[in-house]
Amino acid sequence: MSRFGRDRQVFIFEEYIPTDHHLAYLEYHPFDGTDIVSIRPRIPHWWDEAQREAGLTHLLRTMLRLNEIMRPVLWFYSPMMFGFARDVEASAVVYDCMDELANFRFAPPRLRDLEAQLLERADVVFTGGQSLYAAKRQLHDNIHSLPSSVDVAHFASARGGMPPSSDLATPSGPKIGFYGVIDERIDLSLLDDVAAQRPEWSLVLVGPVAKLRPEELPQRPNLHFIGQRSYGELPGYLSGWDVAMMPFAINDATRFISPTKTPEYLAAGKPVVSTPVVDVVASYGDLPGVFIAATAAEFILACENALALKAQDWLPAVDEKLAGMSWDQTFARMSDLLDKVITNNSQPILRPPAVHTGRRADAYDVVIVGAGFAGSVLAERLASDGGKRVLLCDRRPHIGGNAYDHHDAAGILVHKYGPHIFHTNSGDIVDYLSRFTDWRPYEHRVLAAVEDKRVPMPINRTTLNLLYGLDLKDSSAAEEFLRSRAEPIAELRTSRDVVINQIGSELYRIFFEGYTRKQWGLDPSQLDKAVTARVPTRLCTDDRYFLDSFQAMPLNGYTAMFENMLDHDRIDLELGVDFADIRGENLAPRIIYTGPIDEYFGHRFGALPYRSLAFKHETLDQRRFQPVAVVNFPDEGVPYTRITEYKHLTGQVHRQTSISYEFPQEQGDPYYPIPRPENAVLYKRYAALADEHPGVSFVGRLGTYRYYNMDQVVGQALAHYRRMTQPASARAEVLS
Ligand code: FAD
Ligand code: UDP
Repeated sequence: MSRFGRDRQVFIFEEYIPTDHHLAYLEYHPFDGTDIVSIRPRIPHWWDEAQREAGLTHLLRTMLRLNEIMRPVLWFYSPMMFGFARDVEASAVVYDCMDELANFRFAPPRLRDLEAQLLERADVVFTGGQSLYAAKRQLHDNIHSLPSSVDVAHFASARGGMPPSSDLATPSGPKIGFYGVIDERIDLSLLDDVAAQRPEWSLVLVGPVAKLRPEELPQRPNLHFIGQRSYGELPGYLSGWDVAMMPFAINDATRFISPTKTPEYLAAGKPVVSTPVVDVVASYGDLPGVFIAATAAEFILACENALALKAQDWLPAVDEKLAGMSWDQTFARMSDLLDKVITNNSQPILRPPAVHTGRRADAYDVVIVGAGFAGSVLAERLASDGGKRVLLCDRRPHIGGNAYDHHDAAGILVHKYGPHIFHTNSGDIVDYLSRFTDWRPYEHRVLAAVEDKRVPMPINRTTLNLLYGLDLKDSSAAEEFLRSRAEPIAELRTSRDVVINQIGSELYRIFFEGYTRKQWGLDPSQLDKAVTARVPTRLCTDDRYFLDSFQAMPLNGYTAMFENMLDHDRIDLELGVDFADIRGENLAPRIIYTGPIDEYFGHRFGALPYRSLAFKHETLDQRRFQPVAVVNFPDEGVPYTRITEYKHLTGQVHRQTSISYEFPQEQGDPYYPIPRPENAVLYKRYAALADEHPGVSFVGRLGTYRYYNMDQVVGQALAHYRRMTQPASARAEVLS
């Protein structure tokens, strides 16, 4: 049994009811045979809002004290309760959002504000359907869609044998039934039209009438509003109906509903006719026995088709779907998520163990310079596969190179040197790294800020539609549109050529020109075409930044993965040590150098240009800052290129959020080799010089002056290790 389980007592603090008494008090209503107690506050009806909030705060506190409840799980179905419950010390706060209540008729104006505050405070949010989830997912870091389940056995009793409950004196003719609250969400004129056009049908509506005056309800002899009935009585009503209906008005109040009654009707074996409620269409629209109808005429036709159905033709498919929808499954998921939150709230952050640092020998087989991907992979291979003693040094005070991540002061896992997303098409590289880490599936998405719009980057069909207010429906429409803008260039040499050739000057200027000038300090026309070719325009609506077959983040972060990689008896690590300081000690016959190659040779032919970055890290007192991990700012007037919000990458759940801004600059740590022909020429001179030094090899992004991603560096290091260990004759065989 989970920690939050049926073994806990549940108190339902209901909505208050005004009373004529001068006292505020609580009514207790235990549910027989359960540990559930419903508590109804009663408060003087003349109290104003401030008195009411203060009174409810007091009543809630009294209730908790009298029942000796310490650090409860607070479970909110409505933000309206948050105002007076916010100060209760809780082990977890749940917002179980079943509807967009703010869109309802007479919704209190404070509701939106209170919901925003509740979302800030909630540790986990459940939404009662897909549409609600889509609407709210950007607002919280631990939000989950849990659409309605169904007690199949309860409703299946309506399928046979059960005598129908009826309050009607009109037994003959088809019966079309509905149960639920009857308020502004019901399309009363549709009901009226259907009733008028099919006088031989009985339309039966079970449920309380709310927020509507009696005269607002349509009056017809065959239209029956019979009032509220209990949950236990519902199967009895269903058994007497031929078709179940959901005549919802399609308006703001129904935009996000996900009616629980849909699976209940189906479990009762009744075909369903519904107006086009988004979640009903999306979740049930394809099922036989479910009919979607927008107008009265369509509704009548759908009911006629439903009446003509034979159970054996449609029920098997329905039953298959219902089999995967039990409340037990929903309970298990919720309970699991809640357990995680409670554990998360009460435990300190676990930091990975430190790897061994310091020298244990006077001599080594290999000295490796740089503890990033290149140096660490080679250290691991040489020590554990090659049996070599390795001294690995890095001038930074940590391992991981540019991929280093750490918990900041708030306890949020951040990447010190900007966002690193792992993606590759190489199964071998994944297999190798998987020895040192588990993975968290993650697909990277980036938005570009264009004036006040946020549009997908790389440019795709959605980007074009949003930017130009278009409705390009498919790839060929997008292709046609881009063809009309493209400015063909015969020989593609530079980063400008590639883009203009494909999408023309305007889109080039919006998305590439400013960003690239900021990022590289150069115009795209001065950069190799490979740079902007990394983000090719798409005709489809796939908005993932990468299309690689494997996209994931190391489950506990990069540093933890490096720790595991370097945790070996034959690897000694020296951090904060520049190679220049130990170079003279001749510690090993062999050196692997993953720092900048020109620096190794004292910049003999001149400095190779690198682009640097300054990072500004911030922690904010809010759960979510932006809808995706990275937002790019291509506008040259904005000094930074992008903002990253790390919790998207790591999946961490935390009350606060940490972000970083990237400001490209000329001076500083070398982060990017700059791909342009003259630099390649200069690099070749250094590479030729390196060939004259057989005791040193150069590997990695800086060592080989290549604009490589992490997986490419891992691949390069593994290949380098193979070359080091395979005899030359074997290599020749492989090549021939
Ligand atoms: P590095 O990680 O740079 O490691 C080299 C190490 O050598 C450094 O720690 C340095 O301190 C040390 N060193 C250098 N000279 C000396 C010396 N003289 N003495 C001692 N130590 C020395 N790749 C991806 O696949 N996905 C991404 O999303 C991604 N995002 C990136 C974002 C940014 C902002 C940057 C800069 C890079 C990104 N990369 C990404 C690329 C990725 O960082 C590199 O491919 C990878 O880290 C290169 O590993 P490396 O070992 O070659 O170099
Ligand atoms: N680029 C751009 N606008 C963008 C994103 C990228 O102009 O919104 C260009 C820019 O020149 C950038 C290059 O495309 O340096 C490659 O982008 P990528 O995201 O691959 O660079 P990374 O940050 O991974 O090095």
